[in-house]
Amino acid sequence: MSVEAKQETLGFQAEVQQLLDLMIHSLYSNKEIFLRELISNASDAADKLRFAALQDDSLYEGDSDLKIRVEYDKKHHTLSVIDNGIGMTRSEVVGNLGTIAKSGTKQFFESLTGDQGKDAKLIGQFGVGFYSVFIVADKVEVQTRRAGAPRGEGVQWVSEGKGEFTVKTIDRPKRGTRVTLYLRKDEKEFLNGQRLRGIIKHYSDHISLPIVMDAEGKDAKGEETVNSATALWIRDKKDINEEEYHEFYKHVAHDFDPPLSYSHNKVEGKLEYISLLFIPSRAPFDLWDRQQRHGIKLYVKRVFIMDDAEQLIPSYLRFVRGMVDSNDLPLNVSREILQHNKTIDSIRAGNVKKILKLLQDMAKKEPEKYQKFWDEFGRVLKEGVIDDPEKQEELACLFRYASSYDDKPEQCVSLEDYVSRMQPDQKAIYYVIADTFATAKNSPHLEIFRKKGIEVLLMTDPIDEWVTNHLSEFNGKSLQSVTRGELELGELGKEDKSAASEADTEDPSIKKLSGRIKDVLDDKVKLVRATNRLTSSPACLVSDHHDMGLNLERILKASGQKVPGTAPILEINPGHPVIERLKCMDEEEVFSDWSNILFEQALLSEGGQLEDPAGFVQRLNKMFIQMGRDRNE
Ligand code: ADP
Repeated sequence: MSVEAKQETLGFQAEVQQLLDLMIHSLYSNKEIFLRELISNASDAADKLRFAALQDDSLYEGDSDLKIRVEYDKKHHTLSVIDNGIGMTRSEVVGNLGTIAKSGTKQFFESLTGDQGKDAKLIGQFGVGFYSVFIVADKVEVQTRRAGAPRGEGVQWVSEGKGEFTVKTIDRPKRGTRVTLYLRKDEKEFLNGQRLRGIIKHYSDHISLPIVMDAEGKDAKGEETVNSATALWIRDKKDINEEEYHEFYKHVAHDFDPPLSYSHNKVEGKLEYISLLFIPSRAPFDLWDRQQRHGIKLYVKRVFIMDDAEQLIPSYLRFVRGMVDSNDLPLNVSREILQHNKTIDSIRAGNVKKILKLLQDMAKKEPEKYQKFWDEFGRVLKEGVIDDPEKQEELACLFRYASSYDDKPEQCVSLEDYVSRMQPDQKAIYYVIADTFATAKNSPHLEIFRKKGIEVLLMTDPIDEWVTNHLSEFNGKSLQSVTRGELELGELGKEDKSAASEADTEDPSIKKLSGRIKDVLDDKVKLVRATNRLTSSPACLVSDHHDMGLNLERILKASGQKVPGTAPILEINPGHPVIERLKCMDEEEVFSDWSNILFEQALLSEGGQLEDPAGFVQRLNKMFIQMGRDRNE
């Protein structure tokens, strides 16, 4: 006997044990889903074999009649799911059934709260898979052999779901996998043909392989097929009910929850393909990782070709799950071929069209549902403005923002809403970008807008910096940052504008003051000038039209990039008492402190960080002490 054949006992990866414990407790009320998970895995294994056999049909070992068998044994209290799919090698067994190789694992475990109710939801989102067997079984045995491997290279894996499992090499004449559950004492309900048939029909009817069980009843003989066993997507839409779509989604997306929406399309004409696309109801744990390219399952003439064919969907729609079945691609299509293929390009364009249409309809007819979508995936969708310039206007219609209109943090104002509320003389769509809602809402830059009743969009996603750079117009109206350049309110700002520019150019005391402050602040600011944008704050910082903007600078710095810092412009409010006081302040040291504080408070109020916080505190305290003295005098 070789060393390999010997029995080995191995420990589960720590996370697996944690996942198991969590699952057993939190999913008990939904325990029958283990069967769906096992059947789903068996079906994937058959898909993989069929694909591999396109290159080498000896892998069928003379048996190309792929199916899944479910059997139970009352005497031994066992339930088995058997497939003749691709099977696993010993190292695959150890890797697949001893660790979690899923992306997003780290984020998942970080997000656990210890609250069973909340964690149960998260676990559904993470996907339960094979390990769900331990909800109903106290021992599980897997026997498997990889298609094409000699019969002596079968593998047996056994575990009680308590920290460890054993593997050994066995003789296994049949390829594929048999999973046997030794059911817990109180799980007798799964030793009942009718109950099992009910579960299979309910959760796995869409599986395109036959799922068979021994016929039962008086004159029963042989096997019978329990499910419909036709690919769901080729069926007529009107013959498929919502429940069936949902179960199919759970299978393709490995999701526990039903999708938010879906679109099923049969395209005929120059190209022939079927697409079945789903929008999940929740974002997966790795959505923010742009490298993690999830795609769509690709089938060619009903044969599964590959998972995650990322060419079928652009990155900004990477949350979409589902499948495409093409009649035009060759069966031996590879990932390399997909990259430069006209058929794929057309299918991808078709998918984009369908998803955008689905979202537009949802936004119009089911705004609450759309809001749910936006909260989960809005930030990803925004990338489309950068990735797909042709779709800018269409995408922009789908965007939602918080706004000074209602000052609520929920992002539910569309650009169309904004435009419909614009004042008659208003030329631009105004926005502010900050790193938190409170900073945006309370930004001093908004003061004049509030005074004039002009709405400002309050943006807080880092990506908004890039989006607004690319989306310079909507509906013929330019998008304009309220923190950038000189404020141009046109007719709307006439009075304030002339007051400010008069103050700046005509009033020598303000000109002089600006010069003195600039001398104190030196390189920290590019310029000091009077402004009309403030009503209650003494000062604020703005960026020049072509400069990067302080918020973007901070985002880039935080992500570790080197940024050539550009000094902002300090704008002062000529009518503010603090500015008035500064004008007649002679003592240089006090003037310098006040000027610095003016700059520092402007920086703080727009969410910036002080370079020398201790210096700021000292200056403030000096000021308090001085104020106390003034009062006593
Ligand atoms: P998921 O199916 O979400 O990847 P699972 O925990 O259900 O996660 O399964 C882990 C892996 O084990 C699968 O990805 C697959 O590679 C392998 N596996 C599970 N069941 C089978 C099976 N019946 N035949 C072949 N491989 C299987």
